[in-house]
Order: sequence, then C-alpha cells, then structure tokens
Amino acid sequence: MDDLRRAARLAADTAMDHLAAVPGGPVWQPVAEADRRWLTGQPLPAAGRPVTDLLADVRDHVLAYPMGNGHPRFFGWVNSPPSPAGVLVAPLAAAMNPSCAGGEHGGALLERTAVRWLAELVGFPHPPGAGLLTSGASMATIIALATARQRAVGDVRETGLYGHRPLAVYVSAEGHSCVHKAAELLGLGGRYIRTVPVDRAFRMDVDVLRRLIRADQEAGIRPLVVAASAGTVNTGAIDPLGDVAEVAREHGLWFHVDGAYGALGVLADSSDARRAFAGMELADSLALDPHKWLGVPVDAGCVLFRDLAGPRDAFSLVPPYLREDGVDELGWFSEYGPEQTRPFRALRVWATIAHLGRDGIACRVRHSMGLARSLATMVEAADDFELLAPAITSIVAFRYRPAGVDTGTAEALNQAIPAAVQRRGHAFITGTRLSGSAALRACILHPDTTEADLALLLQEIREAVVRRDFRQTPR
Ligand SMILES: *Cc1c(COP(=O)(O)O)cnc(C)c1O
Repeated sequence: MDDLRRAARLAADTAMDHLAAVPGGPVWQPVAEADRRWLTGQPLPAAGRPVTDLLADVRDHVLAYPMGNGHPRFFGWVNSPPSPAGVLVAPLAAAMNPSCAGGEHGGALLERTAVRWLAELVGFPHPPGAGLLTSGASMATIIALATARQRAVGDVRETGLYGHRPLAVYVSAEGHSCVHKAAELLGLGGRYIRTVPVDRAFRMDVDVLRRLIRADQEAGIRPLVVAASAGTVNTGAIDPLGDVAEVAREHGLWFHVDGAYGALGVLADSSDARRAFAGMELADSLALDPHKWLGVPVDAGCVLFRDLAGPRDAFSLVPPYLREDGVDELGWFSEYGPEQTRPFRALRVWATIAHLGRDGIACRVRHSMGLARSLATMVEAADDFELLAPAITSIVAFRYRPAGVDTGTAEALNQAIPAAVQRRGHAFITGTRLSGSAALRACILHPDTTEADLALLLQEIREAVVRRDFRQTPR
C-alpha cells in the first residue's frame, strides 16, 4: 500500500532538488538513446506500481532532460522559468481538481481576482467578468476573433458565414501565427488575411494598413479585425498601438492586441515604455500569457475584453441541467469560450502575483529589459556581430557577421549557429528569419540572468563557429 504522505514529501524534495540543480547543469542536452526508448516506447503495464517507484523513474528519465527554460542562460523562443510560488501551489490545485467551468467554489471564484489582477497589471480597463484564463494566447486569440466575428455578423451562430460578405483580418508581417490559425479555424479564410508590411523597426506600417482597408472596402470585402502586436516574438517590436486604434475606430474594425509575450513590458513604466505601449488600453480585446514573462507554470493564458457582453454572445450555450438562474449574473466561464471542463489555472496565477507583488513583477520586467539593452550594446560594440532591431522589450535580434565573411557564408553560419550553440550546452539560443535572412534572437526572461551570462552567450556563438561544431560544415 502506498504511503502517500511520505511520497508527497519525496515528490516535493524531488522538485526542489531539480530546481536547485538546473542552473549548474547543461542548459539543454540531447536525450540518450536508452532514455529516448524509455520515454517513447514503454509498454502499457498490466499491474500498477507504488508511486515512490514512479518518482524515481521520473527523476532518472524525465527530469534529466529539461527543455532548458529553467536555466538563466536559456534565451530561446519565449519560455520562462516557473515561478516558485506557482510550482508549489500546482499540486494543491490538482488536489482540489475542480472544473473551473463555473459555479460556487474556490477555484472558479479565485479566477475573478486572477483575471482582474492581470488587467490591473497591464493597465487594461476591466469590467468585472470581461475576461478569462485560457490555455495560452492561441486560445485567447480564437476567443477574441470569434467575439469580433459575432459582433460583425450577428447571426453567425445560426448561418455560419454562408451568404455573408468575406471578412478581412489585418496583421503585420511580424504578427504571430496564432492570428492566422484563429482566422482559419473561424472560417474567415486564409486568403482574407492581409499581411501588413512593417517599417524598419519591424512595426506595422499604419499607412499601408489604411490603404489595404480602403482597397478591401472598395472590393466589397468587409474589414473585420486588426490584430496588432505588443511585443513580437522575432524582435519584441510593439506596433504603433495608438495609431492602429485610431484606424480601427475610423473604419469600425475590432481592435485586438496580441500582448502574449510583451504586454507586461508596460510595467517598466519608463517614458520609452509609456510611449511604446500607449494605446494598448484602447483594445477591444487583449491576449496575454501569464506563462510567458510572469513565469506562471504552463499553462496560463488570458484574454481580456473591453465589454462583458461580446464573448458571452459568441459562446454562451447553457444546457438546462447546468443553468442556475440568479446564482451569479456573470454566468459561467464556460459561457465565454470553447472550453467546458476547465483546469484550476487561477491558483498558479494568483500565487505568482501574490508572491511577487506588483512591484516585484515590475522589477523583473525592468531587469529583463535592462539586460536586453545591455546585450544590444554588446552586440553593437562587437565587430563580429550586427544588431538587427532596436531592443524595445526583452528580445534582441542580431546576426553573427565577422569582417571578411561574404553574405552567403554569413547566411549559412547564422542558420547553423543555434543548433550548434544548443548542443554545447552552455547557453541556448534560437534563430529566425528577418527581412529574408537568417537571424539570431535572444529572449531574456529569467530573473537570475546576469550581464556575464550575456557575454558568455556571445562567446559561445564565437566558439561554436571556431570549432565548426556543426553537424554539417557550412559551405
Ligand atoms: C507565445 C505567443 C503566442 C502564442 O501563445 P500560446 O500561449 O503559445 O498559445 C502568440 N503571440 C505571441 C507574441 C507569443 O509570444
């Protein structure tokens, strides 16, 4: 028989040992063949085993192979280390195991505070109930665009889009693919997604946006939504939100802001940040991801709305056996999105914010942004690196470009560098494409990252090149 209390202590110790060991280990390492077989090929067991045995397996085969994002020298994609408070309360949420579809219980009610806190952190007006936690910004965007579609086509739930004029979606060339996914999923049609070009700082070109909207109107296509970015994944760029808001108002478009990664940057509260984020508060909907910069353990996304009624009109479908009139005028969370059974995400969000406080979170944001500026300065000062975009939030886009290296070689090198650096295990960086060329990008989110870690990252890139530490030598 399991001694669950003893196993629980062991699980907690295992988690803490893991967190303590991460900074001293490789940022990432390839999975050894035997462990890969274990991870992917286990036969279904006929008989069960004690949980303490399972914990040993997890320690030996699973915890040994982290993705890397717990490490202070992980600069890949947009993935943060988990907040300690979030890690600690996660098992408590599992122990309660409610469905946060709605109802009168701790899990569903705490989500009201978690959502309101997020809205207050980023300075978004919050009518009570106008927002919910989601699996991430992808789901948040689906809910936002569905709400925009509902507002534009009042009978869409009856008729679908049959017999209606095409609806156009505007997103910059640097916008996230989740906008495309949502538009396609909602039947808006990929051919009606307008890619708005960006300026030299990778921000949406609002003059072209205007022209595209006018051209669509003249062609009988109805402009539906403009999705602006508050922090793109490639460069951390923030679209000119105030100008986009004005265009949206002029032409009656829904104004959505993708702040999945960057919305928290507004907490930096510098004059630069205030200017860059001005207009975010005018959005009809704002997507943001507590599981990015805030460090809430995955999954935790959020969508906020200016008005309460929109998402409920788009999704509410309450079967009689669930309707309880008069209990809560806001209704259930499941009336505001596609999920019915919903996990207790709010506890991790609440604990993370409650532990750090607004000031603690702002301090982290400033730390990441300050380091991004330092890295940009180091890149500019080095004669073998080239800065590709201003460091506005906490992402730095750059390229390895030593003197005397021709364009073709530089292209091959920059394509090969991320994997080569990752395999060395001392730092983790990912690549992208900017203006048609291979680029490197470092996203800084870890509160323990230092300037020395950034210097080491640049050194690791040089070492990877010098040692030709590539699977295939670039030609
Ligand atoms: C992460 C991210 C998304 C997608 O969000 P998920 O949480 O992965 O669903 C969208 N936009 C931006 C800018 C992001 O960083």
